[in-house]
Amino acid sequence: MSDVLSFPKTPEGAVDLLSMTPSELEAFVLSLGEPRYRAEQLFIWMHRGTEFSEMNNLPKAFREKIAAAAEYRLPKIEQKFVSAKDGTIKYLFALPDGECVESVFMRYEHGNTICVSSQAGCRMGCRFCASTLTGRVRNLCASEILGQVIVASRDTGERIGGVVMMGIGEPLDNYDNAVRFLHLVSEEKGLGIGLRHISVSSCGLADGIRRLAGENLPVTLSLSLHATTDEKRSALMPVNKRYPLREVLGACRYYFEKTGRRVSFEYTLIAGQNDTKEEAEALAKLLRREVGSVVHVNLIMLNEVKETGLKTTSRQSAEQFRDTLTRLGVTATIRRRLGSDIDASCGQLRLRRLEAAEQREP
Ligand code: SAH
Repeated sequence: MSDVLSFPKTPEGAVDLLSMTPSELEAFVLSLGEPRYRAEQLFIWMHRGTEFSEMNNLPKAFREKIAAAAEYRLPKIEQKFVSAKDGTIKYLFALPDGECVESVFMRYEHGNTICVSSQAGCRMGCRFCASTLTGRVRNLCASEILGQVIVASRDTGERIGGVVMMGIGEPLDNYDNAVRFLHLVSEEKGLGIGLRHISVSSCGLADGIRRLAGENLPVTLSLSLHATTDEKRSALMPVNKRYPLREVLGACRYYFEKTGRRVSFEYTLIAGQNDTKEEAEALAKLLRREVGSVVHVNLIMLNEVKETGLKTTSRQSAEQFRDTLTRLGVTATIRRRLGSDIDASCGQLRLRRLEAAEQREP
């Protein structure tokens, strides 16, 4: 373990301190000839977002030695929007190489939750989504995902009790970093966010879902479903051609059987595409047949992205859709739209920023 090759790295290849688990950090500190207990002190400071210069119980010589051998970096707040309606905060974070990702800090009655990004861009190609329009530029390393939570918590001065991996990117397309992030964010000496308060959202990489079920991490799986037949789902979500409904729902059932955690299904309502009463009936039937009765459906009003030409459904059809599901024994809720005045759903800020940068170039 003291071999430098085995330590996590930044995308540029430097040893990445903030991506290390406590035992990796210990091994690293020992490899520099420093006492073991320094690792815990360093871990605690880093997970609070403290700069090296302010880590006042660590000798200067130690900090200099660590800084020379490895990197500790946090994302920078590039833009920040605060909702006047509900206090939701949307961040555009700049990563060290200039890539930008978004996070959303949400206030709920039961505590604060943050939505984080896992990749710069996305290659899944969902037709309604802003994050995929420019493709995937790169994966975020674990510390870049964690950094979003640390910086938001430090910026607000408030505790964050929950995380949803529903920002830019497909977490299971960046599997190792996503799982490492889950371990780090739930570390007691760090942010200590309970795994039961964390949701991993996926467009349906069935192999990844089965693998996640075996990690012994009691996180909630959210599956982005959005359609009830393979034909319709493949038209909206190209990933369905690789992992069709039966396969992906089979993986969800396996996830439930293995972890005992109720799977939640995201269903974005798009006018004229998937929002009829018949489709609600088909959805209830499909879920009961392929997954079982322990499911929950989150209905989402489409956030319109002008490039896609798709429109959201009416409030009335959304309510009818929900009531139909409930009547058929499937619990369903319409997701409250937080931060509607700051356009808080993910992907659009990064997109507009890329457009602005292109316009500036000749
Ligand atoms: N890649 C993961 C997580 C990111 S997307 C996934 O697909 O689940 C988070 C959720 O927002 C998904 O359910 C996604 O389908 C949904 N979504 C994407 N674009 C949307 C839009 N314009 N309006 C409403 N929901 C959207």
